Amino acid sequence: MTKESAQRRTTNQPRSSHPGFSTRAIHDGQEPDPLTGAVTVPIYATSTYAQKELGKDIRYDYARGANPTRDRLETNLASLEGGIASRVFSSGMAAINALCTMYKTGDHVVCGHNLYGGVPRLFNQVLTGYGIEFTYVDTSDPKNVERALRKSTRMVYVETPTNPLMALSELTAIGRICRAKKIELVVDNTFMSPYFQQPIALGADMVVHSTTKFLNGHSDGLGGVVVCTRQDQADQLAFVQKAAGAILSPFECWLVLRGTKTLAVRMLQHDCNGRQVAEFLSAHKKLKKVFYPGLKDHPQHELAKRQMSGFGSMITFETGSLPNAAKMLKRVRVCSLGESLGGVETLISHPATMTHAGLGEKGRAAIGITDGMVRISVGIENVEDIIADLDQALA
Ligand SMILES: *Cc1c(COP(=O)(O)O)cnc(C)c1O
Repeated sequence: MTKESAQRRTTNQPRSSHPGFSTRAIHDGQEPDPLTGAVTVPIYATSTYAQKELGKDIRYDYARGANPTRDRLETNLASLEGGIASRVFSSGMAAINALCTMYKTGDHVVCGHNLYGGVPRLFNQVLTGYGIEFTYVDTSDPKNVERALRKSTRMVYVETPTNPLMALSELTAIGRICRAKKIELVVDNTFMSPYFQQPIALGADMVVHSTTKFLNGHSDGLGGVVVCTRQDQADQLAFVQKAAGAILSPFECWLVLRGTKTLAVRMLQHDCNGRQVAEFLSAHKKLKKVFYPGLKDHPQHELAKRQMSGFGSMITFETGSLPNAAKMLKRVRVCSLGESLGGVETLISHPATMTHAGLGEKGRAAIGITDGMVRISVGIENVEDIIADLDQALA
């Protein structure tokens, strides 16, 4: 990885005066505090604001409606994704739930069949009760999306790459299908972060993230965001923040602002380590298969090179059986056995009994998740130490 790529310039940032990604990450929304000049955005820990007089239309009256630390983070994240505004929520799931309140009884949603486990749980066990209908298809073929559309379809919801199988969906093709029918394309960009993938530039109408993962990056806070491309989306989601209240706290907003400052350098190191770990795993005699878009044998390697500017650090591999997976997961010392991803530390997990347990055996079999699969979120420790740890665990 070169220095130039760390300072990569991306297009489609209407609100920023800075063309470079890292410059925007460090400066957009992160301007010195007007009161003191503090270079770091202050944590405005207040629930309410003293008002000068009655009857004025003011930005800050009560902190569920608006908070200056939150405003700064929303500006920062909108800039990084190339949106016009963003709205942050108390977790990734709260952000996705807020997004879904934009839809009504009778509306239909087409979504990927291999989504983050919490998403189908929300869709099937909460939102269908309010009369929103969901159809799950393999979005890695855009034709499947087109075939599933109905008159009542209002949103197409895609994760790319998917969790844990690392299958890609071609966003320009799906975006074209959606635009022709005035359907909103929403992309969960958690796995790649805006550093490696820019869904809005590729045709998405909104982007969601669990900021819990790479954006915050230090495994110390939950959060979620919806990035918008139109003012009506931003206004409606601001109303949902105020009306439903699942807002991100000022402290958590500050953590994410701190995280995004180093997003570019962290992602470069994640990607650099990810590639080396993937190569090591794919050469390992005991492993049957490795799922990583950066490997030449990944069926969508060419699409990955076109659509993303890096491959990230999420890798899944097949150990062959549940006992094999359990044995290696018990032996790891540098890697931590745990859910979640995107932190500086390497996290390793077992989809069948952890993140994807809720799908049931049949549900997992239908999309190709086996009992022998292990997923790794490669951190930014010394890569030799990560590889040595995996090597001894697989021995
Ligand atoms: C973690 C995750 C979510 C949910 O976010 P939380 O912050 O845990 O609520 C959604 N999508 C993806 C891809 C995730 O990895």
